[in-house]
Amino acid sequence: MVTPKFKKFKIEAYKPGKSKVKKLKKVVKLSANESALGISPMAKKLIVNKKMILDKYPDGKSNELRTAISKKYKCDLNKIICGAGSDEVIQMLCQLYLNPKDEVIVPEYSFLMYRIYAKIVGAKVLFSKETNYKVSIKEILKKVTKKTKIVFIANPNNPTATYLTKKEILKLRSSLRQNILLVVDDAYSEYMKNTDYSSGLDLFRNRDNVFILRTFSKMFGLASLRVGWGYGSKKIVNALNVIKPPFNVNGIAQLAAAESLKDQKFISRSVQHNLFYAKKIKGFLETYNIFSNKISANFLFLNFDKCKFTAKYLYEKLKLRGVILRSTEDGYGIKNKLRLTIGSKEENIKFMNTIKRILN
Ligand SMILES: *Cc1c(COP(=O)(O)O)cnc(C)c1O
Repeated sequence: MVTPKFKKFKIEAYKPGKSKVKKLKKVVKLSANESALGISPMAKKLIVNKKMILDKYPDGKSNELRTAISKKYKCDLNKIICGAGSDEVIQMLCQLYLNPKDEVIVPEYSFLMYRIYAKIVGAKVLFSKETNYKVSIKEILKKVTKKTKIVFIANPNNPTATYLTKKEILKLRSSLRQNILLVVDDAYSEYMKNTDYSSGLDLFRNRDNVFILRTFSKMFGLASLRVGWGYGSKKIVNALNVIKPPFNVNGIAQLAAAESLKDQKFISRSVQHNLFYAKKIKGFLETYNIFSNKISANFLFLNFDKCKFTAKYLYEKLKLRGVILRSTEDGYGIKNKLRLTIGSKEENIKFMNTIKRILN
């Protein structure tokens, strides 16, 4: 028997944050930046009580969801495209824009899916150096050539938790050639209360050469339903709609996402909870000489350089006790750091108590 030949990719497959530990039934998963408060009670109520029509295809255009998004964020319905996670929107963008040999610039420690989807369509990925784990505009500009098509930025960035200020990201756009698409991934923007920050959507909603990404996987707690969206010029969105899989976002996801946008109480509670525990955990870890960046999103990027234990040691010890963080060595290649998601009250307490037990 012969296996017909397929293409070969020089790609390291995406490894998600771990969710299991051998022999342990219950674990605390703080490795994937999921919502600390689960899903919006309003959305939950709706999908539990509603008679779902599961034997018919969903609305391929996600019309009700796009209408809810346009109302919530005061933006144009026709400039929104929904995806099975923002992941799929990244994939579609790469398919739409990139020919083999085209170039894409990503910061060296940025979200891994940009480089993966760009490479799958044959583009060349250039990595711009960062300064202290923060995106450097100067370094991005150094990588620009005639072949540059897209620059991807997550703001704030995953896994480093640093962000470009409003001023800096505006400077990046104005310094890039007009015909380079700047993709601003707002995955964590709902959490951001820092006054020098503005989301991609707030800054660039009327720009034809910026494309914005949003997700329901993080603060809105719908990671498993796979739903996200992109926002860009009508020209780009119309072209994406031609290549979009016809029924990419399932019906339950569309309903739950639209409803969760209306749950203002849940949104405020999520932001408050995150700020409270991020501050508390940051301060707690500093007493063990484990330092992290200024608080931004729903995770901390932990630096062990001044700690008497290594990141690896603590990662393994925590895992044995059923608390899972994200290794930043896997995929990102960052040494002696860990990424910690802010969890529920119980999860955070368990995390802190476990640290105490290991380190004291
Ligand atoms: C989690 C995350 C996403 C979201 O992916 P989905 O496919 O929407 O679940 C996108 N970008 C960044 C930077 C992320 O951290």
